Amino acid sequence: MKIVIVGGVAGGMSAATRLRRLKEDAEIVVFEKGPYVSFANCGLPYYLSGEISERENLLVQTPESLAARFQLDVRPNHEVTAVYPDEKKVEVLSDGKKWQESYDVLLLSPGAKPVRPAISGLAEAKNVYTVRNVPDIDLVMNALEEQPKKAVVVGAGFIGLEMAENLKKRGLAVSIVELAPHVLPSLDEEMAVHIQNELIKQGVHVQTKCSVTAFEHGGKQLRLDDGTTIDSDLTILSVGVQPDSTLAKMAGLETGLRGGIVVNEHYQTSDPSIYAVGDAIVVKQQITGADALISLASPANRQGRQAADNIAGIVRNNRGSLGTSIVRVFDLAAASTGLTERMAQQANLPFSVVHVSGKDHASYYPEATDILLKLIFHPKTGEIYGAQGVGAKGVDKRIDSLATAIKGQLTIFDLPELEFTYAPPFGSAKDPVNMLGYVAMNVAEGLSETIQWHELPEALAQGKILLDVRNEGELQNGAFKDALNIPLNDLRCRLAELDHEKEYIVSCHSGLRSYLAERILKQAGFHVQNLDGAFALYHAVRPEDLIYPEK
Ligand code: FAD
Repeated sequence: MKIVIVGGVAGGMSAATRLRRLKEDAEIVVFEKGPYVSFANCGLPYYLSGEISERENLLVQTPESLAARFQLDVRPNHEVTAVYPDEKKVEVLSDGKKWQESYDVLLLSPGAKPVRPAISGLAEAKNVYTVRNVPDIDLVMNALEEQPKKAVVVGAGFIGLEMAENLKKRGLAVSIVELAPHVLPSLDEEMAVHIQNELIKQGVHVQTKCSVTAFEHGGKQLRLDDGTTIDSDLTILSVGVQPDSTLAKMAGLETGLRGGIVVNEHYQTSDPSIYAVGDAIVVKQQITGADALISLASPANRQGRQAADNIAGIVRNNRGSLGTSIVRVFDLAAASTGLTERMAQQANLPFSVVHVSGKDHASYYPEATDILLKLIFHPKTGEIYGAQGVGAKGVDKRIDSLATAIKGQLTIFDLPELEFTYAPPFGSAKDPVNMLGYVAMNVAEGLSETIQWHELPEALAQGKILLDVRNEGELQNGAFKDALNIPLNDLRCRLAELDHEKEYIVSCHSGLRSYLAERILKQAGFHVQNLDGAFALYHAVRPEDLIYPEK
């Protein structure tokens, strides 16, 4: 059997090596149009600042090492320019020569390419870069030799943020321009705002709700849609990726969402002899079952291996993707899995949301840092739809646990049952993930009724009363306008000040005391909701709505 693979990085190389482990007698040829295979695309941004100091560390394998260990015929600088499914042949271009190569099975893992929008002056601009592979990062490194002072990153997704951080660490003045209302649009606003604040704290200039309309003076000036301009010596364009499916389309294979290659659950395209995996394919979002494009390394590697199994006769089904991801931005990390609140809304799912703030390890043990977690779940069954986390440390562990819980079909009712490793330097006896379970269960079982930060202004306009149960001294750090203040410890003896005919929303600093207040008030017969995430969350996302006593 001759298996030809197009694309020699994550999905393609996982497939190739697995195929060799399963089929010692197969002829396996990998065509890669770039000069390197099995390179660390995810490591590219860190090479800019020197955090990954050696270029060769980005090159994980070579054709020679792959031939020696796996007897693979790996050919870099070979572009597959056409596929002829009827003849089971591909056309290959290398070194100016073109020829045809036959296959029994073809596997496409061509990845995703950076989007280059049709912006005036982009074609003429000499200092605008996209980042996909080692030659791309070499170009940026060469540009850095010219000692640029100002960099602009257009697009604040994962790659844009990583590039911004590393350019800043390299000593450039960095500006980010993002079209969405906040950076990291794949997270919900009140979570992403922490990353935005971290960028600002680290001296990165951030402009949101803003798009670039023109590159002027050869790219030295960017014009924005509000009419202002920003000077740039070096610009990184990171406004998203799209499936690199030109070859598949030319071959007449079925494509779908944004040009992604359509495959069945065994990764077969519309031609059963041609398989496709990785960033180029349309997958099922595991929770909604909707078509999705998920450009991440873990799904690409898994799919490559599963497609290889199917080719070798071991049946494996693609069970869909959650899109679990993480990004570090200076001293903070932000991670997510599954659906965001926005996605749950768009999918018309019934859902509840809770936020929990905790510490990465026991609060009394030195150097504990804050973690904010968010959980989105079915209000009755407790099915977990998604989770997000932001913090300096331990966010990966919590979101990984929750991603595992979703894959294992655990519900919110199982989260308190999860037994995590615990000693003070590592965690807490009640881990923030356990706490998410407790809080979500309180909501699902009707012990607590939450209201989200974005619902607060309307609720207050309808006449609900905000009751802040923080101590008076805490109000100096900022307070809600027109809120009643009764410190929690006084609440039981001041119930007479409240009106049974009114509806109350309770808040404290982070949501713990307000829950206690909610329970006191509920049991005293008051109508009450708990402001989820409380003052701290509201303060992070809508500081302009609060009042700050004059210093
Ligand atoms: P790729 O790994 O991109 O491989 C596709 C290869 O196919 C390319 O090398 C391309 O040259 C080749 N090719 C395309 N067409 C042809 C053709 N016609 N002939 C021959 N060869 C062809 N994911 C994460 O999960 N975490 C991260 O931290 C992360 N960081 C990233 C940082 C950067 C800068 C980039 C660019 C990506 C990052 N990703 C990250 C995404 C991750 O790298 C991809 O999801 C993953 O590599 C996709 O695997 P793939 O096999 O589909 O495509």
